[in-house]
Amino acid sequence: MAENTAIADTICRTIELGVTITGAALDGHERTHLYCELLAADDRCPGCGEPGRLRDHVHREVADLPIVGHPTRLHLQVPRFRCETATCPQAIFRAGIDDIVAPRTQVTRRTTAWMLQRMIVDKMSVKSVAAAVGLGWDTVNAIALSAARNLAATPERLDRVRVLGVDEHKWKHVRGQGDPSFVTVLVDLTPVVDGTGPARLLDMVAGRSKAALKNWLDARDQAFRDRIRVVTMDGFAGYRTATAETLDRARAVMDPFHVVHLAAEKLTRCRQRIQTATCGHRGRSGDPLYGIRRTLLTRTGLLTDKQKTRLKIGLDAHDEHVAIAITYAVYQELIAAYEQPHRREGKIAMYKLLKRIRTGLPAGLAELAQLGRSLWARRAEILAYFDTGASNGPVEAINGRLEHLRGIALGFRNLRHYILRSLIHSGGLAERLHAL
Ligand SMILES: [Zn+2]
Repeated sequence: MAENTAIADTICRTIELGVTITGAALDGHERTHLYCELLAADDRCPGCGEPGRLRDHVHREVADLPIVGHPTRLHLQVPRFRCETATCPQAIFRAGIDDIVAPRTQVTRRTTAWMLQRMIVDKMSVKSVAAAVGLGWDTVNAIALSAARNLAATPERLDRVRVLGVDEHKWKHVRGQGDPSFVTVLVDLTPVVDGTGPARLLDMVAGRSKAALKNWLDARDQAFRDRIRVVTMDGFAGYRTATAETLDRARAVMDPFHVVHLAAEKLTRCRQRIQTATCGHRGRSGDPLYGIRRTLLTRTGLLTDKQKTRLKIGLDAHDEHVAIAITYAVYQELIAAYEQPHRREGKIAMYKLLKRIRTGLPAGLAELAQLGRSLWARRAEILAYFDTGASNGPVEAINGRLEHLRGIALGFRNLRHYILRSLIHSGGLAERLHAL
């Protein structure tokens, strides 16, 4: 019998787990059941540290690695002890098995590692992995997500984060109350700013709110929060508040992409308003403004001579077009400030521009006036870009990849699965798999 046990333990590598096989059985569900004892049960009381007296055993069933293609269940006989220290508040306790099974999970740690490896290295689906270990889809997805998140946020990765990118991203188009379709995306931009490598996806959390970012930051340790020097973000005020309340030493930076995007939006609205006022209808082909709607948004430096001529003709076609011409000029100036080869000069140009349009514009420039007010309110974060050089460009790039992923996976069952797939695809986790 002892010999058989040694053979079984060798085949199933159960000694690595710290258990030894005492029996085995097959069931009618294609599963293999292994009955095990702990090799060395920890009998020290968690209350007082003294060894307890063996009282009985409790049975714990957990999933383990598949054996010859069949799902496996480990049945662990976990000793239970009575504490005999009179002053100890702990009466009865179980031997700890945290090394074998993580708290509150129903699979061995090595199974979790195996599942994530199959998904990351072999691109196996949650469905296939779930079938291999004989667990439900939701269970496997939840276990893998938690493991992927831990990998993405291992100390080695978090230790280096000084520049954090925060962005929002719509993962699913759903109607209804609230905004369950948004995720907050957290990206490490430090390698980009240092010029040492690409941005890395750290995590994604449900929702777009101050709380989404604040809760995530609160869940990290103080040392992590102290290391963050820069947080780049879009125009969403909730992120700014969360940063200010949680990170003492970080500067908020409003991303150039979003600033330019905001200005482009106002320019388009201005064009549409003037279009309707002068033609009495929304833009259609043949209208002078409709023909230049894209040229207006293009950087002047990228225009051909022909496009420049058409632009001039379009803007000169009607007196009322002057509002568009002025908004257009500001839009181009904004881009030019970002394109200054020396960021210091860019900052000065940007400051002068923001100051000029913040207030007191002539009537008829409603969109520009609005832009001026909102940019002035965010001037500290806008100007901070020029001091730090940190931009969300890489965040946008990751979002672009996720966008693609979303396209190929319209069947995503839920957000937790979406986040798991995102981490697997964009988190650079393969290099961290050994940490499992
Ligand atoms: Zn005790």
